[in-house]
Amino acid sequence: MRKAIYPGSFDPVTNGHLDVIQRATKLFDRVVVAVAANDSKQPLFSREERKQMVARAVRNFPTVEVDEFDGLLVDYVERQGAQTVIRGLRAVSDFEFEFQLALMNRKLNERIETIFMMPKDTYTFLSSRIVKEIARLGGDVSSFVPAHVRAALSGKYKLEPT
Ligand code: ADP
Repeated sequence: MRKAIYPGSFDPVTNGHLDVIQRATKLFDRVVVAVAANDSKQPLFSREERKQMVARAVRNFPTVEVDEFDGLLVDYVERQGAQTVIRGLRAVSDFEFEFQLALMNRKLNERIETIFMMPKDTYTFLSSRIVKEIARLGGDVSSFVPAHVRAALSGKYKLEPT
């Protein structure tokens, strides 16, 4: 069975993440979306909230499961019995950090490969950070995130319902 781990903060999950997940399901028998604790990033949503938002967004993908992890990614990937890490690449700006991360993970565990997936072109400008910024300023994020994520952002920033 081919199993891949898609790790990230998912603070919150966006249509760009979902595009990557959907592409990954075509290549792997199972895809585990692994929500990182990432306390150093001071997320807007708690880990439980982030996990639940991802779970709801992928409920129609039968081969996708949602989990959480703490500590070293490579250790988590081993514990899952997986060999592949999926990351998304939007633009050149992502490249340097992702390249460093992938090579460091390879140093830590040579058995694990990182695969990069490019989203649909319309999602290349999309990031959780930008979605939060738009929502915070009262902008419409409905074409960037699933409806339940938009509602959760409204709750955090007290936006008007549409
Ligand atoms: P992290 O904090 O680990 O970067 P993110 O949730 O921001 O977590 O992103 C997880 C992964 O998804 C990263 O590889 C990131 O580059 C990728 N990603 C985020 N947004 C998009 C998008 N719009 N299109 C493609 N990949 C994306």
